[in-house]
Amino acid sequence: MQTLFSDIDTWIFDLDLTLYGPEANIMAQVRDRIALYVERYFSIGSEEAHEIRHRYWKKYGTTLGGLMTEHQVDPHGYLDFVHDVDMSLLQPAADLRDYINALPGRKIIFTNADAPYAGRVLTARGLDDVFEDVFDIHRMQHMPKPSPGSYDALCSELMIDPKRALFVEDSAHNLVPAKALGMRTIWVKHAGEADSTAHEDHIDHEITDVTQWLSEIHSFERAA
Ligand SMILES: [Mg+2]
Repeated sequence: MQTLFSDIDTWIFDLDLTLYGPEANIMAQVRDRIALYVERYFSIGSEEAHEIRHRYWKKYGTTLGGLMTEHQVDPHGYLDFVHDVDMSLLQPAADLRDYINALPGRKIIFTNADAPYAGRVLTARGLDDVFEDVFDIHRMQHMPKPSPGSYDALCSELMIDPKRALFVEDSAHNLVPAKALGMRTIWVKHAGEADSTAHEDHIDHEITDVTQWLSEIHSFERAA
């Protein structure tokens, strides 16, 4: 690509709410499953479970982080449980598949979820075989984005030069460590989110839809 992105050789994508939109209603289900796990684990009511879920999420980055640190919960059983959600609203995305396939270089998923769940999402979206690798929560040693160590692990294990990598994410705070390493950062902003972080230094480009954005850079390349 001879244009804005000609220096990029590795395209890194977040999964949830980046490769599909909020309308698929996946993350609300995951949140409820997390609270249900906490409810059953501690034998407490739903309201208290949501409080614990939120408290661990704020303190440890994920609820799992709190459950592992404070209660030695097994991450595999937990992740199987919380990701047991209805994916029927996820639709195959043929355009997105074509646009990602047409990008020059490597394509990688970088997600705080686990690889089996990521595989189900990718299958539902018709994005099987598009990505070279899924760097998941286990490979981050359960220290999720935005923990800087997870970005270091990604780059060293997959031999990525961050200065030639681009990262697409809907959680703006997850772009901070990426930018610090020298990655190009693309923020997928969903409707209703505040603009407060939009022009901060860690965001290079702000978009609202990955498919639309990729279609624009491909047509720009053809015109160049
Ligand atoms: Mg996300």
